[in-house]
Amino acid sequence: MVRYVYEFTEGGRDMAGLLGGKGANLAEMTRMGLPVPPGFTVTTGACRAFLTTGAEPDGLAREVSVHLTALEQAAGRRLGQPDDPLLLSVRSGARFSMPGMMETILDIGLGDDSVLGLAKTSGNERFAWDSYRRLVQMFGSTVMGVDSAVFEQAMTQLKDLRGAPDDLHLDAGDLAQLVETYKNLIKYETGEDFPQLPAEQLRRAVLAVFESWNGERARLYRRREHIPDDLGTAVNVQTMVFGNLGPDSGSGVAFTRDPATGARGVYGDYLSNAQGEDVVAGIRNTVPLDQLGRLNPEAFAQLRDHMRTLESHYRDLCDIEFTVERGKLWMLQTRVGKRTAEAAFAIAAELVDEDLITPDEGLARVSGDGLARLMFPRFDTAAVGQALAHGIPASPGAAVGAAVFDSAEAVRRAAAGEKVVLVRQETTPDDLPGMIAAQAVLTSRGGKTSHAAVVARGMGKVCVCGAEEITVDSQGRRFTVGDTTVEEGTVISVDGSEGAVYPGAARLVDSAVMRYFETGEASAGLVDAVARAMQQADGVRRLGVRANADTPEDAARARRFGAEGIGLCRTEHMFLGDRRQLVEAMILARTDTERERALDALLPLQRQDFIGILEAMDGLPVTIRLLDPPLHEFLPDRTELAVRLAAAEAHGNPPSAHDSELLDAVNRMHEENPMLGLRGVRLGLVAPGLVVMQVRAIAEAVVDRKRASGDPQAEIMVPLIDTVEELRLVREEVEQVLAEVSTESGVTVECPIGTMIELPRAALTAGRIAQEAQFFSFGTNDLTQTTWGFSRDDVEAAFFSAYLDKGIFKVSPFETIDREGVGRLVEIAVAEGRAARPGLKIGVCGEHGGDPDSVHFFHGAGLDYVSCSPFRVPVARLEAGRAAL
Ligand code: ADP
Ligand code: MG
Ligand code: MG
Repeated sequence: MVRYVYEFTEGGRDMAGLLGGKGANLAEMTRMGLPVPPGFTVTTGACRAFLTTGAEPDGLAREVSVHLTALEQAAGRRLGQPDDPLLLSVRSGARFSMPGMMETILDIGLGDDSVLGLAKTSGNERFAWDSYRRLVQMFGSTVMGVDSAVFEQAMTQLKDLRGAPDDLHLDAGDLAQLVETYKNLIKYETGEDFPQLPAEQLRRAVLAVFESWNGERARLYRRREHIPDDLGTAVNVQTMVFGNLGPDSGSGVAFTRDPATGARGVYGDYLSNAQGEDVVAGIRNTVPLDQLGRLNPEAFAQLRDHMRTLESHYRDLCDIEFTVERGKLWMLQTRVGKRTAEAAFAIAAELVDEDLITPDEGLARVSGDGLARLMFPRFDTAAVGQALAHGIPASPGAAVGAAVFDSAEAVRRAAAGEKVVLVRQETTPDDLPGMIAAQAVLTSRGGKTSHAAVVARGMGKVCVCGAEEITVDSQGRRFTVGDTTVEEGTVISVDGSEGAVYPGAARLVDSAVMRYFETGEASAGLVDAVARAMQQADGVRRLGVRANADTPEDAARARRFGAEGIGLCRTEHMFLGDRRQLVEAMILARTDTERERALDALLPLQRQDFIGILEAMDGLPVTIRLLDPPLHEFLPDRTELAVRLAAAEAHGNPPSAHDSELLDAVNRMHEENPMLGLRGVRLGLVAPGLVVMQVRAIAEAVVDRKRASGDPQAEIMVPLIDTVEELRLVREEVEQVLAEVSTESGVTVECPIGTMIELPRAALTAGRIAQEAQFFSFGTNDLTQTTWGFSRDDVEAAFFSAYLDKGIFKVSPFETIDREGVGRLVEIAVAEGRAARPGLKIGVCGEHGGDPDSVHFFHGAGLDYVSCSPFRVPVARLEAGRAAL
């Protein structure tokens, strides 16, 4: 037979799956001998059974009644006994903490008779009626479904009538009257009487807590926190203790350390003469916890004692709920407490110092997401006011600037020295100059993998996207939120860590952690704690960490941040700007001579780029990818060009020869589906001279660096391979150029030649490809696109949010690697690649390389390194260390 009920004396903290977190920890505290009011826990299994069948599981009622009887016998009173009632709380508590998301009902057992008994035995009539009105209200709303606002309104009306500033100014008579009003409201709203039978109250309360698992609030919370929907909640039935018995009683919450900074000390709030959630509900002003020391020194000393006991027992920051009943302290809840990123690092370091945890455990307690948050400046939280709007925190950090509504304006103002925030409905590649010029990017549409988000993260630029409350009017150069209008030039503040937008200029606090990574100078406090976590991670990690960098500046920064090379140097950015015309000339060339002339002009420019990057990464590997995007990306937009030429013609200006050629080329190269078109290695195989030029530029750069006594470690990477044949052909060409340059210069140039694995076919034939490839690098962005059949640029706006809402995926596969599908291709390619070529070096480049969860996957899959944007390098180092624990 399944068992549904456990006494607090039977459980323990390792039983959270069965007893819920709250029940497991109540049991743990009971075992430790802390003063916990006695009780028992109904298991999550009972809840699951109830939710699947819709009926109370067989045997539950009998088990509850057995344990209730035991509780009554120990107390010497029966539940709701008229002359001296035992009262109970019925408390939800799931495996993962869902604070305030489900229901708790206090003072179960009171009725019209026993309220008088309670008044007499306690000698406090007001207390008895206060408890009763609380029960009727909680039961009425939670169990009987009456809107709690109805009760609150009645309470407010009575307070107004009495001129009472708060509930303490209502006397026993007022509260008795309130109970009457509440009961009438329940009858009016539900047609049913408030139940007087204690056993019925208990039974219905337990079932209502079960049902609260599927309440709307709880479901939303679980979706956001990625908590499975089928766990169910446990229910804790516990003897009441009373904080509302007068000024020598009260209720409070406490933390064993400051959850904001991690500082040691006593933190929390206390409210005297109060019950339950009063202390967090803001109905009266609470006092800081240390005031309890003056109100009740003995209880306070005990509490501090218990806090120390709990912290060394749990070996972590604990948060605590407690109640003082006539001077006696009772512990009602504890759990390992939530904390800010800053506190997480500080506490881990301190607990290591105190020998409570090992350095490895310290590392397990911090996270890459937390580190990322600490690497950016933030707003002084005390100084910011009400947010103007909220969106998705897409790229962390905080920035202040004047709102501008197009790229050109952003560039113009920034050039004049003004700080700007680029506000768009969504961004496109055309907005790139404006994004570079801006301090922050704010969009009203798009998710975490929208263009704005991806590009901003890559640049380490603050970004809030998908702020749906705002309406962007680019034409009118303003945006509106409700009835607030923000005109161009108005200063706003964007918090990319929290996803908030504030009016005006909020005060910025610099990131000491970022300064540490930039300069390497550790100091005391938070920075020291971070430095120690990094050291620990670097000591245990097996995965290497490289950066994606296209310029000497990015390469140098990546190196300061601890990158062990470049995993992806894209060459396409080197073809933009002034060089676009040279690319255009190459594409339009009609003769070999013309083409060669264009390529010859590009060669020295590319060579110079590579020299700078190889110098910045001297001694470390630099993986250079040959040109990847479709060539037409370097030509004018087809529609725009056609419209411009047609308009000119209408004004009597026929197109020039160059213009018509351009239009021809644009038409010729137009693709319906460029992502799957002429790009990557395909380009190299059909555009004559392109690969030769690129490889020559790389080889000559290597020669140049060697002559300067450098140690260049260039690696040549071929993108978008489908079959080994493609790689074989390109490899021959590459090797020939390397040999030529070696002969010409008298300097031996040897570069490993490898390939990206970014198409399913390549992954599935990795064994054959490895025969020609000296290394692999997974391009997980394209591999995700092609495995799912999603075009990243199109699916975001079209249906991703619907898919997330429906739970088809819990997180976008462009953000965190899809282990089941894309991950399986990775595993196949690793296994077959290494079988064909033992020791084959394998890495990953692309957004996933800096995503904590994905880093753990790549560690498990046996990759040699991950490569990510320079700003994510410390995050990847930390997570690679955590993955190795
Ligand atoms: P939540 O999970 O939302 O924190 P709880 O079950 O902890 O809900 O209940 C909320 C509050 O009710 C507790 O913090 C405590 O103040 C009060 N409470 C719960 N059980 C008891 C009890 N047995 N005696 C007195 N107060 C209680
Ligand atoms: Mg609680
Ligand atoms: Mg790719």
